[in-house]
Amino acid sequence: MASNCIFCRIAGGEIPSAAVYEDEYFKAIMDIAPAAKGHILILPKKHSDNLLELDSESAARLLAVAQKIAKAQMEELKCDGINLLQNNGEAAGQTVNHFHIHLIPRYKSDQVKISWQQGAYADGEAAGLAEKIAKRIN
Ligand code: 5GP
Ligand code: ZN
Repeated sequence: MASNCIFCRIAGGEIPSAAVYEDEYFKAIMDIAPAAKGHILILPKKHSDNLLELDSESAARLLAVAQKIAKAQMEELKCDGINLLQNNGEAAGQTVNHFHIHLIPRYKSDQVKISWQQGAYADGEAAGLAEKIAKRIN
C-alpha cells in the first residue's frame, strides 16, 4: 500500500468509506462528490497509477465487477442509464492517481455532461492511423 495514496488507504480500510462491494481484489465506494447520487468508484486494492500500469489479472476481473454493481444501481436507483468512465492522466481528467472506474447513474433529463465536439477524418486518415496503432498492439 502507498501510505500517501488516499485510495490505497480507503481500499485497505484505513480510512472509512461508504462501501457497496468488496472482494479479495476490489472495493467499490460511493464517490465523495458525486456527479449524481449513487455515483460509485471501483478501486483495486493493489495500487497502480492508471490503466496503463494495471496488472492484467485485475483488468480481466474488473468488468465483471462493474457489471454486477451497475445492475444493482439500475435496480435500486431506477436510473435510465449508467456511464462507465475511467480517466488516465491529468489531461484526461484524472485527479486521484490510483486506478479507478466511475459508475455514474444517468437520467433522461439530467444535467451531467460527458461530451465532446465531434471531429472528422480526411479520406484514408482513419484507416492509416488504425494500421499504425494496430501494429503496436501486443
Ligand atoms: P478522477 O477525476 O481521478 O477520475 O476521479 C476521482 C474521484 O474521486 C472524484 O470523482 C472525486 O470526487 C473522488 N474522490 C476524491 N477523493 C475522495 C475520497 O476521499 N473519498 C471518496 N469516496 N471519493 C473521493
Ligand atoms: Zn493507491
